[in-house]
Amino acid sequence: MASALTDKLSRLVKEMRGQARITESNVQDMLREVRMALLEADVALPVVRDFIARVKDKALGQEVLGSLKPGQALVGIVNAELAATMGEGVADINLAAQPPAVILMAGLQGAGKTTTTAKLAKHLIEKRKKKVLTVSGDVYRPAAIEQLKTVTAQAGAEWFASTPDQKPQDIARAALDYAKKHYFDVLLVDTAGRLAIDELLMQEIKDLHALLKPVETLFVVDAMQGQDAVNTAKAFKEALPLTGIVLTKLDGDSRGGAALSVRAITGAPIKFAGVSEKIDGLEVFDADRHAQRVLG
Ligand code: GDP
Repeated sequence: MASALTDKLSRLVKEMRGQARITESNVQDMLREVRMALLEADVALPVVRDFIARVKDKALGQEVLGSLKPGQALVGIVNAELAATMGEGVADINLAAQPPAVILMAGLQGAGKTTTTAKLAKHLIEKRKKKVLTVSGDVYRPAAIEQLKTVTAQAGAEWFASTPDQKPQDIARAALDYAKKHYFDVLLVDTAGRLAIDELLMQEIKDLHALLKPVETLFVVDAMQGQDAVNTAKAFKEALPLTGIVLTKLDGDSRGGAALSVRAITGAPIKFAGVSEKIDGLEVFDADRHAQRVLG
């Protein structure tokens, strides 16, 4: 597939015409282009360094040096390594738990947690034929609770009422009880997020995790966050055993380098991509396709 980077690499290869064979220094030139493409896509520097080192090891093997089309061979290695770094195959939601399977949503305010909660509810109802309950533990912003109510109705799921005077843990316990009594398959728990990482809030979500024992703990992160996604991802990974990532706002004009950084830092698979504000704007994450986008 043609991309700006592929064009650049082909040009480099053409410039080398007349040389008997591709040398290590040619490969270095090409890797410099790859490095620049990744940095332009806002992939975090340490992640770029590791990535380039891995590609270099492979590229310096016979695969590229002995190849008739070294530019294409290198692009092939880069693409494969990118896709491998971002995920292997499709990773749908895990519901292997005694019902209700609890899914805990974590992330900063504005990342898209509430929207994604409703999108997931719709996905689970339509694709997995599940009976889904949602609840908000965001007692700091009454508007957030109302927002979840509205989008849950759009998703065709049921919403469990909570109020700002309750403790998040009490809300969680009550919702879990209700879900059990009424035979829900899935309980989606939306949580509070601040604009920056906050110790108290981290403790709160850790307590919720201990209480709810979720089968999935999803980290929702805004693809437009670029480099900042790294610090956020680190903080959430330290606080919680993340089982998956949802990368939101991929319909924006970022190259989506955050996918690489967040995946490398958390080790958790990217399960879904948010691709619009609408309730049906959720796609199963496709690592191969995303690799092309990151390369630009
Ligand atoms: P929360 O604070 O983490 O719960 O974030 P919200 O769910 O309230 O989302 C914050 C804003 O981002 C809202 O205006 C959403 O409509 C918007 N949003 C969420 N996901 C997406 C997405 O995938 N694409 C776009 N374009 N907007 C999104």
